[in-house]
Amino acid sequence: MSRDNKVFPSLADAIRSSGLKDGMTLSFHHHFRDGDYVMEQVMREVARLGYRDIKLACTSIGSSAQVVADYIEQGIVTGLTTSGIRDHIGEAVSHGKLKEVAVLRSHGPVPWGDPVGRARNDGEVVAPPDDVRDDFSGISVCMHVRDYQRTTASLVTWLPADREERPRTVAALGSPCCSIFVPCGTGWMPEVLGDAATWAVVGGLADAVEASPDALAEVRMVLDPVEDRIWEQATQRPGRPPLDGGAAWSADVRSALAAAADRVGAGSGG
Ligand SMILES: [Zn+2]
Repeated sequence: MSRDNKVFPSLADAIRSSGLKDGMTLSFHHHFRDGDYVMEQVMREVARLGYRDIKLACTSIGSSAQVVADYIEQGIVTGLTTSGIRDHIGEAVSHGKLKEVAVLRSHGPVPWGDPVGRARNDGEVVAPPDDVRDDFSGISVCMHVRDYQRTTASLVTWLPADREERPRTVAALGSPCCSIFVPCGTGWMPEVLGDAATWAVVGGLADAVEASPDALAEVRMVLDPVEDRIWEQATQRPGRPPLDGGAAWSADVRSALAAAADRVGAGSGG
C-alpha cells in the first residue's frame, strides 16, 4: 500500500497494521484528570478484533476507561502498569481477576497460580531465557535471564477488597523459580527468610537450572509439596504468624532446598 498518507481508513486497520499480537503491551498517555476516550476506543476495537492477553501501560485509568474492567474479567487484559486504578477496575484487580502475578515464577507463558486453588504447570518446564528478544519476550516477573540477571528476593502481598480481611504476604529468597515462597507479615518473619546460608543454596539451585533446563522440573518436584503444605497451613491463620512463629516452616524449607540441591547436584555457592 502507498505510504504517502499515514492515516489509515479505520482504527481497526491501524491496530492490525501496527503488528499487534496477543500478549503484547499497549501504552497510553493522557493529560485530562479522568482520562480521555483514546484508550477506551482503542481497547473496544482490540477486544472486537479478538486479541487476548494484552498488557496495558498507561498514565492512569480514569472513569473514561472503566470498560477495561470487563476486559480484565474476560482475559483480554491480563497485565496493568499504571499510576492508579479505581472504581470497577480497582474492584476487579482487588478480587484477583488480573492474572499478572501468575507469571511470577514461570519463564514462559504458563501460569504460576495463586495460593488458593493454584494450578500447577502440569509438568511443563521452561528454562530461563538466554536472551531478551526485540519484543521484550524472554523476560518475566521472575526477571531471570541466563548468565545475565536473576531476582535477589521477591515479596508478594494480596490486598483484599474487604478491609476486615488481613492481607496475605509471601516472600522468597533468591530467584522465585528455584525457591519457596514463605508466608510472612508485618512484624513477623519465619527465621529462614533471614538466613544467608539458605540464600546461597537457592543461588546454587539457580546455577544448576541455568546449566540444565531439566533440573528445574526436579527442583520444583521437591519444592512444590512443601510450599503447598505451608501455604495451606497459613490459610488457617490468614495474615498471622503460625503459633511457633514459623520455626517448623523454616526447618521444612531449609531441608526441601537442601534435598533439591542434592537431587540436581547443586553446590551451595551462588
Ligand atoms: Zn527463574
